[in-house]
Amino acid sequence: MMLEDHENYKMFLPRYYKILDGKAKARFLVTKFLDEKIKQARKILERCELCERRCGVNRKKGEKGFCGVGTEPEISSYFRHMGEEPFFVPSFTIFFIGCNFHCQYCQNWSISQRYEKGFFLEPKELARVIELQRNIRNVNFVGGEPTPNLLYILEVLKHLNRNIPIVWNSNFYMTEKSMDLLDGIVDVYLSDFKYGNDKCAERLSKVKNYFSVVSRNHKLAYKDAELVIRHLVLPNHFDCCAKPVLEWAAENTPKAIVNIMSQYRPQYKAKEYQEINKFLGDEHKRATELADKLGLNYVC
Ligand code: SF4
Repeated sequence: MMLEDHENYKMFLPRYYKILDGKAKARFLVTKFLDEKIKQARKILERCELCERRCGVNRKKGEKGFCGVGTEPEISSYFRHMGEEPFFVPSFTIFFIGCNFHCQYCQNWSISQRYEKGFFLEPKELARVIELQRNIRNVNFVGGEPTPNLLYILEVLKHLNRNIPIVWNSNFYMTEKSMDLLDGIVDVYLSDFKYGNDKCAERLSKVKNYFSVVSRNHKLAYKDAELVIRHLVLPNHFDCCAKPVLEWAAENTPKAIVNIMSQYRPQYKAKEYQEINKFLGDEHKRATELADKLGLNYVC
């Protein structure tokens, strides 16, 4: 079979999964498949539309869009993370600086909004770092947001000589082109499904068309790999956000694990928004009661 284009690779890939019969996808057998994805990601960077902001800047020439990520990614840190969901840990987590959202209550604001300086490692070097880790269950790409760094992440995976599950830990604002590049690469999508409507998303994360983009990507992810949905319950956002997100998940991704998170703290610019400038009341309890009623497979 001639493997000439991306579509052909996608058709061919499932055979490799069968041969391996393992959890992690057979990246090391499909270097050419990754080469094609890398080529496409490089092209997208010339008029960046890795996410639905679609800034159109030429990041190959050093121009920067909303996320502020330039030609080379900046890494804030990487380490064996023990604070993720119990089934993920120890998770070798790589934190990138920069984000395509501007969440007013972000707990990682110094990373996401680029108040910190990071460092750069050649993709080959980061692949080597990953290979040397012992007792890790997966490699977890997060930020900030991993999406602006998609080309770099593909290059890391190309150099990675270790068959280990890949976790895509993201706000899910990728374009369909980016989803296509992730297809066949990611083992577990770990999403952050924040809002049940566009108005709250625009107000609190400065992002447009939130619900249609993020729900579309959840459907694509659900078809492609394992899906774990995180929903951080916000004060005074039960009816507008928690409820519709949980109902959507029950209807569209019924086998996904949902993490209903209660750790909201008013941080960063939360004091400028009266309804979230407080700790949770009974919203989390109401969310778990609803999840029970909906029959969701959830943790909290
Ligand atoms: S990844 Fe960054 S530069 Fe590219 S479209 Fe999104 S926000 Fe804009």
